[in-house]
Amino acid sequence: MELKGLGIKEAKALLDSGDATSSDLVKAVAEEYRARNGEIGAYLTFDEEAALKLAAENPKAIPIAIKDLINVKGQPCTCGSKILEGYVSPYDATVVRNLKANGFIPCGRVNMDEFAMGSSTENSALGVTRNPYDLSRVPGGSSGGSAAAVGGDLCIAALGTDTGGSIRQPASFCNCVGVKPSYGRVSRFGVTAFASSLDQVGPMTKSVEDAAILLKALAGLDPMDGTTSDMPVPDYAKALEGASLKGVKIGIPKEYFDVAGLDAEVRRITEESVKACEAAGAELVEVSLPHTEYAMSVYYIIAPAEASANLARFDGVRYGHRSAHAKDVLSLYAKSRAEGFGPEVKRRIIIGTYVLSSGYYDAYYGRAQKVRALIKRDFDEAFAKCDALLTPCAPTPAFKLGEVLDPLTMYLNDLSTIPAALAGVAADSIPAGFTREGGLPVGVQFISGAFEEEKLLRICKAFENITNI
Ligand code: GLN
Repeated sequence: MELKGLGIKEAKALLDSGDATSSDLVKAVAEEYRARNGEIGAYLTFDEEAALKLAAENPKAIPIAIKDLINVKGQPCTCGSKILEGYVSPYDATVVRNLKANGFIPCGRVNMDEFAMGSSTENSALGVTRNPYDLSRVPGGSSGGSAAAVGGDLCIAALGTDTGGSIRQPASFCNCVGVKPSYGRVSRFGVTAFASSLDQVGPMTKSVEDAAILLKALAGLDPMDGTTSDMPVPDYAKALEGASLKGVKIGIPKEYFDVAGLDAEVRRITEESVKACEAAGAELVEVSLPHTEYAMSVYYIIAPAEASANLARFDGVRYGHRSAHAKDVLSLYAKSRAEGFGPEVKRRIIIGTYVLSSGYYDAYYGRAQKVRALIKRDFDEAFAKCDALLTPCAPTPAFKLGEVLDPLTMYLNDLSTIPAALAGVAADSIPAGFTREGGLPVGVQFISGAFEEEKLLRICKAFENITNI
């Protein structure tokens, strides 16, 4: 069975007509894994036996690749880190339970930047992932394994997580649809925490319709995650019927186009996307989100602060790596962490601990929270004038492995994706074109208000229809 072009919708049709069973789908994914994962490195581990067992229990289920920080009972969950090598999950995350209850099964663990910190998957301590469109380039990150698996047709669809852009930027690099749901739409229970006020799980798929189907399966209130909303989960796929851009107000935020370092091809493709929306009947509205320029600084205080607290649990006592060289309990903590964490994770823990320390808390963390509120207000004001925003997603197409070495340049990848994460609104990346030289995929970002995924996906479906990628 050919996985190219086989998304959730196509797999459902095969299952419904009786032309394939869940086991056939798992075997097809396993075959692709054996044939091509050596070259692409999307998967870290692939337990075919476990997936076939689930498939036998549920012959109408569709296999989904899982980012390696989402717990699946009996499977490794390493978060791309040495510190969790050998760790096996004792339970299913709520999103995994929801998948199983809605006609999906977890199948394979895909690579990521260590603890989801990064934009290229090069921070994974466990392997290299390559961009399926150009093997000398990165797939983006931190959900780079998910994006490479979807974009390279090594799976049917995948789950990623997004804290500041980790679903959207890799989706843009690998020609996938990637949706970061509104904060609180999807449960975080059983998803290893990076920055708890930002983290969301979302679908990474081959089409908008697939993203709509998968999001419905994932979303909803969870008593195990007090930040989930009890707002009803609409039938997102049904909402796509008859999708049109006629009369839709698309906001064009000027701050997102005035970015230094915005690649000329990304600019061209984004501007052509804007024109295509207008030609399809959308009304363009110029909007301003004046606090956008502070978003990066705010994110790099809040995200490391929360990470420093969340990662304190990896201490050599309860989980994963334990140093063999410790003399007492304090050196056990210090050495286990020094040996287990990679350089980017250590950098974030140090920054996070600093901004939370007494005497600096008000100046950094407290002030960042206030500016975050202003960023959120910018979005509220913009959405009073339009239905959704259209912006560039990542500032460049996929770059070469090893090309970006300094952390700050790497951080700039998320310039356009971080504000929506801080505001907790829904945002996604949708394939929009290819660079003239090299044929690298480029996605654009659509952003809607919080819990407006139905509207967002409808707009994206209409956009997908006119771009025909
Ligand atoms: N690249 C950003 C970071 O390194 C965002 C990561 C993410 O969304 N998980 O923090």
